[in-house]
Amino acid sequence: MKPEKNKYIGCMLGSAIGDALGKQNEGVNREVILKRGYIKDYGRAPKGSPGEALREGQYTDDTEQMLVLAQSLIACNDFDTYDFANRIAKWGLDIRNDTARSRLLGPSSSWAIEKLNSGISWKESGSDVPSCGSAMRVAPIGLFFNDIHEVEKKAVLSSIPTHKSKSAVAGAVAVAVAIRCALLGYDRFEIIRRTCESASNHEIDIAKKIESSYELRNEVPDMVLPQLGTSFYVYDTVPCAFYFFSRYFKEPQRAIIEAVNAGGDADSIGCITGALCGALYGIEYFPKKWIDGLEKRQLIENISIMIYEKSDHDFL
Ligand SMILES: [Mg+2]
Repeated sequence: MKPEKNKYIGCMLGSAIGDALGKQNEGVNREVILKRGYIKDYGRAPKGSPGEALREGQYTDDTEQMLVLAQSLIACNDFDTYDFANRIAKWGLDIRNDTARSRLLGPSSSWAIEKLNSGISWKESGSDVPSCGSAMRVAPIGLFFNDIHEVEKKAVLSSIPTHKSKSAVAGAVAVAVAIRCALLGYDRFEIIRRTCESASNHEIDIAKKIESSYELRNEVPDMVLPQLGTSFYVYDTVPCAFYFFSRYFKEPQRAIIEAVNAGGDADSIGCITGALCGALYGIEYFPKKWIDGLEKRQLIENISIMIYEKSDHDFL
């Protein structure tokens, strides 16, 4: 049976909500967050952080790249690496000319985008730095393709133009496969099992760390976060998101609040956690103020509905 439309909308809006909330804590230490108190609603990012010029409720590059990927899927009715690489390259040029957004691009993506724009093929343009850029944007792949092996294959291709290291690829596979499993309503153990199985086809260490993040689910964040780390490396962000998702599996709002207050790469941790929770529960589980206050909420909703409709053919 095809998963409900509200889960597609929940996944993409959840991703953007986690990103827009988390940007306020990007690069902030956990100790500072604990002293100042948790962020539970939209606000501005601190001075000095990449998103400092963004408005309340405005998301960062994580969601922007996710939307580029979703639009490529819609236009091609499939994942076409050449089309996606062209779109990412063009997006990179657009944000470079926009003062509020120009600092959002991480070093791996900017390096790869420069190569793509200089005419280098997507097969060669990707960075070898194991950062989380391809994992944070991959959710639409998990929404679009019904078959888990297809999800895995397309997630790999979606990573390569900007992030071609084995670990970045494995991180993207993990998130995409988990999104598909969450959409199908699998329980937490089964989601993690299938996620790790697929990720381990590309790199075993990230699969092991996701597995341990699940095993740590009964421990409090302040015990777990120093072990997992919260940096922009895919080894940290992806297992961290799986920890919050597993720990607060029945409390999606709480999962997102805890994730965006992890500090470090809080926007990406929040973005991945939000996508997972939204795919599992659907949009109605998120507070109205988070939905209404989100930048371009209607656009994201429309794109997720198009993805839902396009993914239909698998079920006919
Ligand atoms: Mg970001």
